[in-house]
Amino acid sequence: MILPNVTKMCNNGTVARITIIGTGYVGLTTGVCLNYLGHDVICTDVNWNKIINLSKGRVSIHEDQLHELVNEGISKKTLSFTNDIDGAVALADFVFLCLPTPEKPDGSADMSYIETASKDIKEHLNPDAVVVIKSTVLVGTSQSVEELLGNSVVSNPEFLREGTAVSDFFHPDRIVIGASNMNAAHAVALLYDKLDTEFVFSNTRTAELIKYTSNAFLATKLSFMNAMALICERVGADVDDLIEGIGHDPRIGNMFLQPSPAWGGSCFPKDTKALLSIAKDCNYDFKLLQAAIDTNDEQIKQVISKIEMAHGDALCDATVTILGLTFKANTDDLRQSPALRIVDKLLELGVKVRAWDPTVEDKTDSELIPEGIEICVSPLVASMGADVLVITTEWYELTKLDASEVAQLMKKKAVVDTRNILPVDKWLDEDFDYQGIGR
Ligand code: NAD
Repeated sequence: MILPNVTKMCNNGTVARITIIGTGYVGLTTGVCLNYLGHDVICTDVNWNKIINLSKGRVSIHEDQLHELVNEGISKKTLSFTNDIDGAVALADFVFLCLPTPEKPDGSADMSYIETASKDIKEHLNPDAVVVIKSTVLVGTSQSVEELLGNSVVSNPEFLREGTAVSDFFHPDRIVIGASNMNAAHAVALLYDKLDTEFVFSNTRTAELIKYTSNAFLATKLSFMNAMALICERVGADVDDLIEGIGHDPRIGNMFLQPSPAWGGSCFPKDTKALLSIAKDCNYDFKLLQAAIDTNDEQIKQVISKIEMAHGDALCDATVTILGLTFKANTDDLRQSPALRIVDKLLELGVKVRAWDPTVEDKTDSELIPEGIEICVSPLVASMGADVLVITTEWYELTKLDASEVAQLMKKKAVVDTRNILPVDKWLDEDFDYQGIGR
């Protein structure tokens, strides 16, 4: 990845003082990259361990170049990490809220982290400081925070993809800035003035809705393709050729067409449900989006049926190997991972589950990993004695898996490739019962 040229000064020659509240995937990437662009950045979090580790240059998130940029910023003394949120807010020209906005039990989005943090920072904010909301928030949140604080609040939703977060920051498709005060909007745009990109200016409500629209649209596209993959299987068509055939059309685009075991991650599931609830609140029954969510849930059941078919017998006595636990490749994020949803279902059915993932060493790595699963040190070790092998994450190393070596280790030769990443011919040559998605 090419980092941008940062010789030009920012903010018409001034360096901005930025405080980040919430140093997770979004907060850390944003803080570290804004620091690389020349700003003085303090990252804060309520998690002591995270802050202590980051202060020592230890980054727990797997993102290309993040570790190097953190250490560069620390050594230049322009990037620091602290739990003293009040003190860091008092020093800031810009305060970025990068806090969680999780799903509530009823599917609507929980804004309590934003509400609490806004109340907490109120008395420490510099009167001219601009508050920037990076979190994905309900429509009207920026306006409420602005009313509460009396400071300008700008909605600047984040579009980074985990796995390519740093590259996405430096090479964004666009930067969305929603504000009621155009001076504040332009001040935030200037923070990014070294980036070669388009700016989209709007009111705060539109900016907030752009983020939900973007995620819901992409999730719907993925559900549509998973449904088409199912039709391919039933009519004897091939989804890879189908994707090629439609992807050249620029109106459709060739990205986000790959079938999968379902979409997941920390954003799509909660954001699609949040948009449903936004629609419900304004008396619109968003049937299309509901269907995309239902299709996604259905996809997990389709994968379980494929595993049952591959085993050819009651699954309760089976040993199934799951290769890949994260929700997609090149991230260590397990939140709402389809692989874990499949594991949960298999465990419910009494299946013995052996699993491998390059980012998971041990069950204790994350509370999201179920107790009943056995974590193995390699794909081959995980394959030992298995009845069915299931590819659940598109890790590059799995594309190189040697079918003949795996064949010698498994009890039965059955593979379910939910990412369509294995070379089918090689696996068929080893007499595997191979099932992809839409292939
Ligand atoms: P995260 O869980 O990785 O990070 C949130 C951080 O906030 C955590 O480190 C947590 O300890 C900290 N925190 C919680 N309460 C706090 C408080 N009161 N004060 C200070 N710190 C506090 O979350 P994330 O994935 O970075 O997501 C943040 C927001 O960005 C969400 O709204 C999410 O929807 C949105 N978003 C996420 C992504 C993504 O790929 N992860 C992409 C775009 C947008």
